[in-house]
Amino acid sequence: MKLKINNETCIACKLCEMVCIRDNIQVIDKKAVEVDNGGLF
Ligand code: SF4
Repeated sequence: MKLKINNETCIACKLCEMVCIRDNIQVIDKKAVEVDNGGLF
């Protein structure tokens, strides 16, 4: 599954990074980005 991240409105609060059960999102350079989730989806 591909995440839909709106970098226009992201404020880099890291809430999504903290709650993602697959560790599939990280905040890098003050923007949320999808990372490798190990092919689980
Ligand atoms: S860091 Fe995640 S939860 Fe926070 S604004 Fe950006 S996309 Fe939304």
